Amino acid sequence: MTASPIEAELGREVALRRTFAIISHPDAGKTTLTEKLLLFGGAIQLAGTVKARKSARHATSDWMEVEKQRGISVTSSVMQFDYAGHTINLLDTPGHEDFSEDTYRVLTAVDAAVMVIDAAKGVEAQTIKLLEVCRMRNTPIITFVNKLDREVQEPLLLLEEIESVLKIQCAPVTWPIGMGKRFRGVYHLLENRLMRFAAGQERVGTDTERIEGVDNPRLDALFPDETVSLRADVDLLRGASDPFTLEQFHAGTQTPVFFGSGINNFGVQEILQALVDWAPPPQPRDAGVRMVEPAEPAFTGFVFKIQANMDPRHRDRIAFLRVCSGRYSPGMKVQHTRLGREMKIANALTFMANERVASEGAVAGDIIGIHNHGQLHIGDTLTEGEALSYKGIPYFSAELFRMARARDPFKAKQLAKGLQELGEEGAIQVFESATGQTLLGAVGPLQFEIVAHRLQTEYQVDAVYDAADIHTARWVTFPDDNTRKRFEKEQALRMSQDVDGNPVFLASSSYNLMVTRERWPEVGFHATREHG
Ligand code: GDP
Repeated sequence: MTASPIEAELGREVALRRTFAIISHPDAGKTTLTEKLLLFGGAIQLAGTVKARKSARHATSDWMEVEKQRGISVTSSVMQFDYAGHTINLLDTPGHEDFSEDTYRVLTAVDAAVMVIDAAKGVEAQTIKLLEVCRMRNTPIITFVNKLDREVQEPLLLLEEIESVLKIQCAPVTWPIGMGKRFRGVYHLLENRLMRFAAGQERVGTDTERIEGVDNPRLDALFPDETVSLRADVDLLRGASDPFTLEQFHAGTQTPVFFGSGINNFGVQEILQALVDWAPPPQPRDAGVRMVEPAEPAFTGFVFKIQANMDPRHRDRIAFLRVCSGRYSPGMKVQHTRLGREMKIANALTFMANERVASEGAVAGDIIGIHNHGQLHIGDTLTEGEALSYKGIPYFSAELFRMARARDPFKAKQLAKGLQELGEEGAIQVFESATGQTLLGAVGPLQFEIVAHRLQTEYQVDAVYDAADIHTARWVTFPDDNTRKRFEKEQALRMSQDVDGNPVFLASSSYNLMVTRERWPEVGFHATREHG
């Protein structure tokens, strides 16, 4: 079947989309790289824009202050820019130290990820967790080994560590010459040239010196000490390391590795080029009943994040929707699958590096922001009529629990409203117990503080947290209604509902969970819940 001209045009536009996130352990250099990518993409003129935001939110209290003051001028969590004829969508993952569910969900909305490794520290805890999440969808990973301007670990050892700890094959694309004060540059193994290192620029320089060929006498003249070992390394890598293949990269089994120094703008352009040349365009997605192709003409998409108060002048909530097929056009009517009713998307937003503008149109891979008055939850699918529901947008079972109540009992209603909204937004998990208590579940402790702060500033409720004797929560599913009723009766004191009304079992200990599972083999206990 040949595509109509409209479909062919859509297909061309989709093929030019690159949607990705940066993953790293805190302090490896994610913020710096984000900023430099924007700089090279021409989206910002001067380094410092993203940085200022991050340094301010490092400490909890400052972070809250920034959140409160966060205006439309501040870089948002989605940044779109053009590079080499492509439209790049960079999705930010939360910067604070708590490993949050938000990050997991953002990773469901990308087609590739850039993994930043601090060359001195190697593979760190959060990198391991984030890579596990990427692996669930076989997301292709580009690796940037950062901070070569410092004394760091031997590059070969770093590759070994990545391969053994992260279980992903490394295909070095560039190779460093020296490190720290003697960092001379990187040798591009595929293009056979050296890019000479020059330290510290705030702006994009075009003056990187390139030296062709590993046998070039200019190398000996410039770096007599390092050139010999560079040649030995190049020989070794050519003989022993795995050659880069697009197929393995796209399957998520091999990662191309680049070395550089983000803060010095060095090696950043190669990452952008790799995204454009190698990272996949938007891929088909599983919508339950069928796979949806990105260049199908009918619009579909799913909500992966909800953010409140992006504009402090209006109390707004924005639902971030990843377009999966078709084209968004202003004012279009869509079907809300979960609610089974039509809704109009009046004035969706597109997010640039430091402003948000009315979206004039978006195709698969793009992210639009929809003003949300509670009708959209994380995981919701919108379509042009077909009853589809995208899979794989996860909720994770919380590991920390508190009971919440209003200090002033007359404010119970506001508290309930605030928690309902914050729960829908995914800021925290909210459960209503069968005994009428409100329970909060978090993955990281900072979530409780943020929620208390937001309840106070946005809902004018002073919330008090009490300890809860809950060890872990499991979503439960039943083979039939009869089993559900019997289970709910026997476990009444340990039952609750999440914000979407799904039954949740609250275990007092891992032993309690084990025993209950044994007693009820026909009941399903789930540590994650997929939305939709
Ligand atoms: P994030 O927590 O991953 O977002 O990390 P940042 O981008 O904020 O970087 C953490 C620290 O490492 C900051 O002090 C940066 O200035 C520093 N940094 C980032 N890239 C480099 C680099 O290439 N070389 C050196 N020496 N420091 C860097």
